[in-house]
Amino acid sequence: MMHKQFYKNHHIRKRFGQHFLINVNIINRIISAINPQSNDYIIEIGPGLGALTEPIIKYLDNLTIIEIDRDLVRRLSDNNHINKKIIILEKDVMNVNFSKLIQKNKKMRIFGNLPYNISTKIIFYLFNYITFIKDMHFMLQKEVADRLVAKPGEKSYGKLTIMAQYYCQIIPLFTISSGSFFPSPNVDSVMVRLIPHQIIPYPAIDMCMLNFIVNEAFKKRRKILRNSLKNIFTAEVLELFGICPLSRAENISGEQYIKLANSISNQYSLVKKNIFPISIGH
Ligand code: SAM
Repeated sequence: MMHKQFYKNHHIRKRFGQHFLINVNIINRIISAINPQSNDYIIEIGPGLGALTEPIIKYLDNLTIIEIDRDLVRRLSDNNHINKKIIILEKDVMNVNFSKLIQKNKKMRIFGNLPYNISTKIIFYLFNYITFIKDMHFMLQKEVADRLVAKPGEKSYGKLTIMAQYYCQIIPLFTISSGSFFPSPNVDSVMVRLIPHQIIPYPAIDMCMLNFIVNEAFKKRRKILRNSLKNIFTAEVLELFGICPLSRAENISGEQYIKLANSISNQYSLVKKNIFPISIGH
Protein backbone atom coordinates (compact mmCIF):
# COMPACT_ATOMS: atom_id res chain seq x y z
CA MET A 1 0.00 0.00 0.00
CA MET A 2 1.23 3.53 -0.81
CA HIS A 3 2.39 5.39 2.28
CA LYS A 4 1.30 9.03 2.15
CA GLN A 5 3.50 11.60 3.82
CA PHE A 6 2.30 15.04 4.87
CA TYR A 7 3.97 18.33 5.75
CA LYS A 8 1.84 21.23 7.03
CA ASN A 9 -1.20 19.31 5.81
CA HIS A 10 0.22 19.05 2.32
CA HIS A 11 0.43 15.62 0.75
CA ILE A 12 4.08 15.46 -0.32
CA ARG A 13 4.53 14.44 -3.92
CA LYS A 14 7.76 12.59 -4.52
CA ARG A 15 7.34 12.76 -8.26
CA PHE A 16 7.66 16.55 -8.02
CA GLY A 17 10.88 16.28 -6.03
CA GLN A 18 9.27 17.90 -2.99
CA HIS A 19 11.73 18.53 -0.16
CA PHE A 20 10.67 21.58 1.79
CA LEU A 21 13.16 23.88 3.47
CA ILE A 22 12.65 23.95 7.23
CA ASN A 23 15.87 25.58 8.46
CA VAL A 24 15.33 29.29 9.09
CA ASN A 25 19.05 30.10 9.18
CA ILE A 26 19.53 28.52 5.78
CA ILE A 27 16.48 30.31 4.41
CA ASN A 28 17.93 33.64 5.60
CA ARG A 29 21.31 32.84 4.08
CA ILE A 30 19.68 32.09 0.76
CA ILE A 31 17.74 35.34 0.77
CA SER A 32 20.85 37.38 1.58
CA ALA A 33 22.79 35.56 -1.14
CA ILE A 34 20.13 36.55 -3.65
CA ASN A 35 20.17 40.10 -2.28
CA PRO A 36 16.77 41.11 -3.69
CA GLN A 37 16.13 44.74 -4.58
CA SER A 38 12.60 46.15 -4.66
CA ASN A 39 12.33 46.64 -8.41
CA ASP A 40 14.21 43.51 -9.46
CA TYR A 41 12.40 41.22 -11.86
CA ILE A 42 12.52 37.96 -9.93
CA ILE A 43 11.10 34.58 -10.84
CA GLU A 44 10.98 31.65 -8.44
CA ILE A 45 10.82 28.09 -9.70
CA GLY A 46 9.01 25.67 -7.40
CA PRO A 47 7.89 27.89 -4.49
CA GLY A 48 6.32 24.92 -2.71
CA LEU A 49 4.78 26.08 0.54
CA GLY A 50 6.52 29.42 0.30
CA ALA A 51 9.59 28.82 2.49
CA LEU A 52 11.61 31.22 0.32
CA THR A 53 8.69 33.08 -1.23
CA GLU A 54 7.42 34.61 2.01
CA PRO A 55 10.73 36.06 3.22
CA ILE A 56 11.88 37.30 -0.20
CA ILE A 57 8.66 39.04 -1.09
CA LYS A 58 9.12 41.52 1.73
CA TYR A 59 11.89 43.10 -0.33
CA LEU A 60 10.06 43.12 -3.65
CA ASP A 61 7.31 45.00 -5.47
CA ASN A 62 6.25 41.74 -7.06
CA LEU A 63 7.40 38.19 -7.72
CA THR A 64 6.56 35.70 -10.44
CA ILE A 65 6.33 32.08 -9.28
CA ILE A 66 6.13 28.89 -11.31
CA GLU A 67 4.65 25.86 -9.57
CA ILE A 68 3.39 22.61 -11.06
CA ASP A 69 1.50 21.23 -8.06
CA ARG A 70 -2.11 22.37 -8.15
CA ASP A 71 -2.59 22.00 -4.38
CA LEU A 72 0.43 24.18 -3.68
CA VAL A 73 -0.74 26.80 -6.16
CA ARG A 74 -4.05 26.98 -4.35
CA ARG A 75 -2.34 27.40 -1.00
CA LEU A 76 0.01 30.06 -2.34
CA SER A 77 -2.83 32.05 -3.85
CA ASP A 78 -4.74 31.81 -0.55
CA ASN A 79 -1.72 32.98 1.44
CA ASN A 80 -2.42 36.55 2.60
CA HIS A 81 1.25 37.25 3.32
CA ILE A 82 2.15 37.01 -0.33
CA ASN A 83 -0.87 36.90 -2.61
CA LYS A 84 -1.04 40.65 -3.30
CA LYS A 85 2.41 40.65 -4.82
CA ILE A 86 2.69 37.35 -6.65
CA ILE A 87 2.01 36.41 -10.24
CA ILE A 88 1.43 32.66 -10.28
CA LEU A 89 2.11 30.47 -13.26
CA GLU A 90 0.58 27.07 -12.56
CA LYS A 91 2.80 25.19 -14.98
CA ASP A 92 5.57 22.75 -15.55
CA VAL A 93 8.59 25.06 -15.75
CA MET A 94 9.77 23.05 -18.76
CA ASN A 95 6.71 24.32 -20.63
CA VAL A 96 7.15 27.95 -19.72
CA ASN A 97 8.10 30.10 -22.64
CA PHE A 98 10.40 32.52 -20.86
CA SER A 99 10.64 34.75 -23.92
CA LYS A 100 7.01 35.66 -23.22
CA LEU A 101 8.04 36.79 -19.74
CA ILE A 102 10.70 39.20 -20.92
CA GLN A 103 10.27 42.73 -19.63
CA LYS A 104 11.69 45.74 -21.36
CA ASN A 105 14.97 46.95 -19.86
CA LYS A 106 14.88 44.39 -17.09
CA LYS A 107 16.68 41.12 -17.08
CA MET A 108 15.24 38.22 -15.12
CA ARG A 109 16.67 37.01 -11.84
CA ILE A 110 15.69 33.39 -11.39
CA PHE A 111 15.98 31.34 -8.23
CA GLY A 112 14.67 28.20 -6.64
CA ASN A 113 15.18 25.17 -4.52
CA LEU A 114 14.90 23.04 -7.62
CA PRO A 115 13.17 19.66 -7.81
CA TYR A 116 16.24 17.44 -7.85
CA ASN A 117 14.86 14.91 -10.29
CA ILE A 118 14.86 17.50 -13.10
CA SER A 119 17.33 20.15 -11.92
CA THR A 120 19.80 19.47 -14.74
CA LYS A 121 17.03 19.56 -17.32
CA ILE A 122 15.82 22.90 -15.97
CA ILE A 123 19.31 24.40 -16.11
CA PHE A 124 19.80 23.26 -19.71
CA TYR A 125 16.36 24.62 -20.58
CA LEU A 126 17.14 28.04 -19.11
CA PHE A 127 20.28 28.33 -21.24
CA ASN A 128 17.87 28.92 -24.14
CA TYR A 129 16.97 32.24 -22.53
CA ILE A 130 20.37 33.15 -21.15
CA THR A 131 20.60 36.59 -22.80
CA PHE A 132 17.51 37.68 -20.86
CA ILE A 133 18.79 36.46 -17.51
CA LYS A 134 20.74 38.58 -15.06
CA ASP A 135 21.55 35.81 -12.61
CA MET A 136 20.32 32.51 -11.18
CA HIS A 137 20.49 31.14 -7.65
CA PHE A 138 19.72 27.48 -7.31
CA MET A 139 19.74 24.93 -4.58
CA LEU A 140 21.05 21.76 -6.15
CA GLN A 141 22.08 18.32 -5.05
CA LYS A 142 25.81 18.40 -4.37
CA GLU A 143 26.54 16.02 -7.22
CA VAL A 144 25.03 18.47 -9.73
CA ALA A 145 26.86 21.43 -8.16
CA ASP A 146 30.10 19.43 -8.50
CA ARG A 147 29.37 18.87 -12.17
CA LEU A 148 28.78 22.58 -12.73
CA VAL A 149 32.19 23.60 -11.40
CA ALA A 150 34.27 20.59 -12.44
CA LYS A 151 37.56 20.90 -14.30
CA PRO A 152 38.84 18.69 -17.13
CA GLY A 153 40.10 15.38 -15.78
CA GLU A 154 37.72 15.34 -12.84
CA LYS A 155 35.10 12.64 -12.36
CA SER A 156 32.21 15.13 -12.41
CA TYR A 157 33.38 16.81 -15.62
CA GLY A 158 30.84 16.34 -18.41
CA LYS A 159 28.36 17.90 -20.76
CA LEU A 160 26.67 19.95 -18.04
CA THR A 161 30.07 21.37 -17.02
CA ILE A 162 30.98 22.39 -20.53
CA MET A 163 27.65 23.99 -21.39
CA ALA A 164 27.20 25.71 -18.02
CA GLN A 165 30.70 27.16 -18.08
CA TYR A 166 30.18 28.19 -21.68
CA TYR A 167 27.28 30.43 -20.66
CA CYS A 168 27.96 31.35 -17.06
CA GLN A 169 30.37 32.07 -14.31
CA ILE A 170 29.49 29.58 -11.57
CA ILE A 171 29.93 30.33 -7.91
CA PRO A 172 29.16 27.68 -5.28
CA LEU A 173 27.98 29.55 -2.18
CA PHE A 174 27.41 27.14 0.70
CA THR A 175 26.55 23.56 1.49
CA ILE A 176 23.27 22.59 3.12
CA SER A 177 22.87 19.37 5.00
CA SER A 178 19.95 17.10 4.27
CA GLY A 179 18.49 17.78 7.74
CA SER A 180 17.48 21.28 6.57
CA PHE A 181 14.65 19.80 4.52
CA PHE A 182 11.50 17.84 5.12
CA PRO A 183 11.46 15.11 4.04
CA SER A 184 15.25 15.03 4.10
CA PRO A 185 16.83 13.96 0.82
CA ASN A 186 19.56 11.31 0.73
CA VAL A 187 22.20 13.81 -0.28
CA ASP A 188 23.65 17.15 0.76
CA SER A 189 22.83 20.22 -1.28
CA VAL A 190 24.75 23.26 -2.45
CA MET A 191 23.51 26.75 -3.14
CA VAL A 192 24.98 27.93 -6.43
CA ARG A 193 25.03 31.29 -8.19
CA LEU A 194 25.19 31.36 -11.98
CA ILE A 195 26.02 34.67 -13.63
CA PRO A 196 25.71 34.69 -17.42
CA HIS A 197 28.88 35.97 -19.11
CA GLN A 198 28.34 39.40 -20.60
CA ILE A 199 30.65 38.34 -23.39
CA ILE A 200 31.06 34.62 -24.05
CA PRO A 201 34.81 33.97 -23.62
CA TYR A 202 35.02 31.42 -26.45
CA PRO A 203 31.96 31.73 -28.65
CA ALA A 204 30.73 28.79 -30.68
CA ILE A 205 29.69 29.57 -34.23
CA ASP A 206 26.90 27.03 -34.04
CA MET A 207 25.60 25.80 -30.69
CA CYS A 208 23.98 22.75 -32.29
CA MET A 209 27.37 21.70 -33.54
CA LEU A 210 28.97 22.18 -30.13
CA ASN A 211 26.16 20.16 -28.54
CA PHE A 212 26.59 17.44 -31.10
CA ILE A 213 30.36 17.11 -30.65
CA VAL A 214 30.14 17.13 -26.85
CA ASN A 215 27.32 14.57 -26.94
CA GLU A 216 29.28 12.29 -29.20
CA ALA A 217 32.39 12.55 -27.07
CA PHE A 218 30.57 11.81 -23.81
CA LYS A 219 28.28 9.07 -25.13
CA LYS A 220 30.93 6.62 -24.01
CA ARG A 221 33.12 8.68 -21.75
CA ARG A 222 35.73 5.96 -21.23
CA LYS A 223 36.35 5.57 -24.94
CA ILE A 224 39.37 7.32 -26.43
CA LEU A 225 38.46 10.26 -28.65
CA ARG A 226 40.06 8.78 -31.74
CA ASN A 227 37.29 6.18 -31.53
CA SER A 228 34.36 8.14 -30.13
CA LEU A 229 34.81 10.99 -32.63
CA LYS A 230 36.06 8.88 -35.50
CA ASN A 231 33.06 9.67 -37.69
CA ILE A 232 33.72 13.37 -37.34
CA PHE A 233 37.45 13.99 -36.98
CA THR A 234 40.52 12.10 -38.05
CA ALA A 235 43.27 11.60 -35.48
CA GLU A 236 45.35 14.15 -37.43
CA VAL A 237 42.67 16.80 -37.04
CA LEU A 238 42.45 16.13 -33.31
CA GLU A 239 46.20 16.59 -33.07
CA LEU A 240 45.98 19.81 -35.04
CA PHE A 241 43.89 21.16 -32.17
CA GLY A 242 46.39 20.00 -29.60
CA ILE A 243 44.22 17.04 -28.60
CA CYS A 244 45.89 13.71 -28.07
CA PRO A 245 43.72 11.18 -29.98
CA LEU A 246 44.25 8.74 -27.11
CA SER A 247 42.69 11.09 -24.55
CA ARG A 248 39.10 10.74 -23.37
CA ALA A 249 36.10 13.08 -23.41
CA GLU A 250 36.75 14.18 -19.83
CA ASN A 251 40.28 15.39 -20.62
CA ILE A 252 39.27 18.05 -23.14
CA SER A 253 38.63 21.64 -22.11
CA GLY A 254 35.51 23.54 -23.12
CA GLU A 255 37.65 25.79 -25.28
CA GLN A 256 39.01 22.77 -27.17
CA TYR A 257 35.49 21.44 -27.78
CA ILE A 258 34.49 24.84 -29.10
CA LYS A 259 37.49 24.93 -31.42
CA LEU A 260 36.59 21.50 -32.73
CA ALA A 261 32.96 22.47 -33.26
CA ASN A 262 33.88 25.75 -34.91
CA SER A 263 36.26 23.97 -37.24
CA ILE A 264 33.34 22.07 -38.72
CA SER A 265 31.11 25.09 -38.72
CA ASN A 266 33.97 26.74 -40.61
CA GLN A 267 34.69 23.67 -42.60
CA TYR A 268 34.14 25.19 -45.95
CA SER A 269 36.63 27.98 -45.41
CA LEU A 270 39.19 25.65 -43.85
CA VAL A 271 38.95 23.20 -46.70
CA LYS A 272 39.23 26.08 -49.12
CA LYS A 273 42.38 27.20 -47.40
CA ASN A 274 43.68 23.64 -47.69
CA ILE A 275 44.26 23.50 -43.98
CA PHE A 276 42.82 20.06 -43.65
CA PRO A 277 40.20 17.75 -44.99
CA ILE A 278 37.67 16.82 -42.34
CA SER A 279 36.07 13.50 -42.88
CA ILE A 280 32.46 13.60 -41.78
CA GLY A 281 30.53 10.41 -41.70
CA HIS A 282 33.11 8.32 -43.53
N1 SAM B 1 10.74 26.18 -2.57
C1 SAM B 1 10.17 25.21 -1.69
C2 SAM B 1 11.09 25.03 -0.49
O1 SAM B 1 12.27 25.38 -0.61
O2 SAM B 1 10.61 24.57 0.55
C3 SAM B 1 9.92 23.86 -2.37
C4 SAM B 1 11.14 23.25 -3.03
S1 SAM B 1 10.87 21.59 -3.59
C5 SAM B 1 12.54 20.99 -3.59
C6 SAM B 1 10.61 21.76 -5.35
C7 SAM B 1 9.32 22.47 -5.77
O3 SAM B 1 9.25 22.48 -7.18
C8 SAM B 1 8.05 21.82 -5.30
O4 SAM B 1 7.16 22.79 -4.83
C9 SAM B 1 7.48 21.14 -6.54
O5 SAM B 1 6.09 20.97 -6.54
C10 SAM B 1 7.95 22.09 -7.62
N2 SAM B 1 8.10 21.47 -8.95
C11 SAM B 1 8.49 20.21 -9.22
N3 SAM B 1 8.54 19.99 -10.54
C12 SAM B 1 8.19 21.17 -11.12
C13 SAM B 1 8.04 21.57 -12.46
N4 SAM B 1 8.30 20.74 -13.46
N5 SAM B 1 7.65 22.85 -12.71
C14 SAM B 1 7.40 23.70 -11.69
N6 SAM B 1 7.51 23.37 -10.39
C15 SAM B 1 7.92 22.12 -10.10
